[in-house]
Amino acid sequence: MRDTGKGDRVLMAAAIWTLMLAAGGLFPDAPVRADDFLRLRNEMVSGQIVSRGIKDTRVLDAMRKVPRHRFIPERQRPHAYEDCPLSIGEGQTISQPYIVAFMTEALDLKKEDRVLEIGTGSGYQAAILAEIVSRVYTIEIVDSLAERAQKTLKSLGYTNIDVRHGDGYKGWPEEAPFDAIIVTCAPEDIPEALKEHLAEGGRMILPLGSAGSVQTLIKISKEKGILRVKDEMAVRFVPMVRQTR
Ligand code: SAH
Repeated sequence: MRDTGKGDRVLMAAAIWTLMLAAGGLFPDAPVRADDFLRLRNEMVSGQIVSRGIKDTRVLDAMRKVPRHRFIPERQRPHAYEDCPLSIGEGQTISQPYIVAFMTEALDLKKEDRVLEIGTGSGYQAAILAEIVSRVYTIEIVDSLAERAQKTLKSLGYTNIDVRHGDGYKGWPEEAPFDAIIVTCAPEDIPEALKEHLAEGGRMILPLGSAGSVQTLIKISKEKGILRVKDEMAVRFVPMVRQTR
């Protein structure tokens, strides 16, 4: 047996180094630790949300608490706290954190409110709402997303959220009226059932407009049976689709 010479050792070190670099290239999204996620979440709130003018402490506390990465496919988790929407599969997206905060604050929520969400998606927005109000009802048209969101919310211990697989255009008549309604997909007109489901004094926020074009986020309030509509900002959401079956 011969001794490993200096030349061999250099070669071996180079080989190990090359392997490490290759592994880095193969796994660019190496897992982030739980306390890293907590730090990223706090940075998200101060750098993207407080800095843009969101003040409601209940919204800020909820955004600091809910583990957004748990609602996102494993591969995307290192990006969970970035300032952008992310893909959640089935061609759908979870909204940018600031938009979630803005829409939640616009609803002027009170602890005892019952809230309806259309477009459960990952379940993240529903979790934010459930941190603030007593009960959240959420409807998702894609079966596999509704099922996954339900599992995620259960694994995080939420007991005040009801997820239903169905068509949001029909609303949730058995549980209406609602103090607040949030629509996280874009219809071309305000759905009739949702106008009816809004309680007196209730607030609704939704992106209005056609798919592929810029939509307008509008806030609606119901006073003495009359709907008042206020434009908030330009946004881009996935379309609110109609059930074909
Ligand atoms: N609020 C979600 C993101 C929603 S993405 C979150 O926090 O992750 C918009 C969702 O609306 C998609 O999952 C889409 O499937 C759903 N959707 C589209 N049309 C719908 C309809 N008519 N009824 C219910 N959900 C609908």
